[in-house]
Amino acid sequence: MLKGLFKNLKKGKPSPVNSTQPLVISRAEHGISRTRISGNALKVLYRLHNAGYSAFLVGGCVRDLLLGRNPKDFDIATNALPEEVRKLFRNCRLIGKRFRLAHIVFGKEIIEVATFRTHHKDGQEHLGQTHKGMIIRDNMYGTIEDDAWRRDFTVNALYYNIADFSILDYTGGMQDLQDKVLRMIGHPEQRFHEDPVRILRALRFVGKLGLNIEPETEKYILQLNHLLENVSPSRLFQEVLKFFQEGATLPTFKLMQKYQVVARLFPQTAAMLSQHDTQKLIEEALISTDMRMKEGKTISPAFLLAVFLWHPVSKLMKHYQHTDDLPIHIAYEKALRAVSSQQSEALSIPRRLMITVYDICFLQHRLTCRYGSIPFRLLDHPRFRAGFDLLILRASAGEPIEELHTWWVQFYSGTHEQRVELLKAVQDLPGPKRKRSNRRRKKKPAPKNNTHPPQ
Ligand code: ATP
Ligand code: MG
Repeated sequence: MLKGLFKNLKKGKPSPVNSTQPLVISRAEHGISRTRISGNALKVLYRLHNAGYSAFLVGGCVRDLLLGRNPKDFDIATNALPEEVRKLFRNCRLIGKRFRLAHIVFGKEIIEVATFRTHHKDGQEHLGQTHKGMIIRDNMYGTIEDDAWRRDFTVNALYYNIADFSILDYTGGMQDLQDKVLRMIGHPEQRFHEDPVRILRALRFVGKLGLNIEPETEKYILQLNHLLENVSPSRLFQEVLKFFQEGATLPTFKLMQKYQVVARLFPQTAAMLSQHDTQKLIEEALISTDMRMKEGKTISPAFLLAVFLWHPVSKLMKHYQHTDDLPIHIAYEKALRAVSSQQSEALSIPRRLMITVYDICFLQHRLTCRYGSIPFRLLDHPRFRAGFDLLILRASAGEPIEELHTWWVQFYSGTHEQRVELLKAVQDLPGPKRKRSNRRRKKKPAPKNNTHPPQ
């Protein structure tokens, strides 16, 4: 496929690395057709161009188009200043403190337009960096070449020029794309220090695009993954969301394990990954997530968070239940609070999502309450489907809940009459019972001998 896309790009062509002259790949030499570019992105490119500015598609969209993939979004780089961009578009809003960006809004589609940026010049680095070398402000405008060298990976620094439909390559990205290599631009040690999130980005791109990590880049991913501790929990959460939505969660998760970054994102889960059932539960969930993305279905970040936190919650819940002798629902609540508060030190998960995670985990207890009208009411619970899905995953990952799982599958798909029968059949099973008032309590027949495992 790549051969076709880089039509006449000859292997071994000298790389323009460190020169001011980019490698220019003419329209005839690459496979990007305008029919695959968003109409709105083309509108923005043409308007900038017609107003006398230079305008390029850049970043992930050029990379993905060259790989024959559908880009998630289209980013534009230009020499127009943000204020100048605003004057050209009525539907433009300027955003960002760290990066001043123009967003051109077309209904649901937003085209991001960024003015070429540069690194801080020698002697001025301190203006935009912490004492640890992390970039906190990055708002100095520069040339397209400066802009290319401050991007993260060579394959992310290709520019599609609307003036003549050529591609400009300052950093050797075209060759790396052809060779399927992810290479940090510049020195990986310095670039990871500047922004440790690049470690997660590297793993995400490798997982998604099936690239190989260039050895020097790889060496520093392993050496510097501890720098992720310096990244704010809210930025890390944004990266986790991208990881969940990329359609390649399983390969990316395996890379995260290989390069020891899971503990930076999910410390409590990472501590349990050596246990087979935790690993299995997460893998099963990620397989089905990737499948859903392939089928064009949406995924629920709250569900995946619940999957990641389920074993820490259930382990702590059992501890509170047995060691502290707490009733099961109190033990659940206490465990959920403790696990979520520790998790929020690593990732700042919005409250709204965390409440859903709570519900999905707590439903694992509610689903064991098979008496009275509870199962019927649970079917109407707004999180029932997610709770039920977690129950199914737990069973397929080997938790000893086979009977409960089969019962719920039958109850869920049964008619009303079948449900009533199913409910009758489990009245005498051991498990959480409704607390009845003395007045209504009747003498029950002795429980039958049954072989069902306790829930
Ligand atoms: P995706 O398919 O996930 O959108 P992307 O490469 O487009 O991949 P974005 O986060 O949309 O990723 O960023 C757009 C471009 O901005 C990147 O391709 C890269 O050139 C540049 N970029 C983004 N984040 C960084 C960073 N942390 N350091 C340097 N350059 C970055
Ligand atoms: Mg992008």
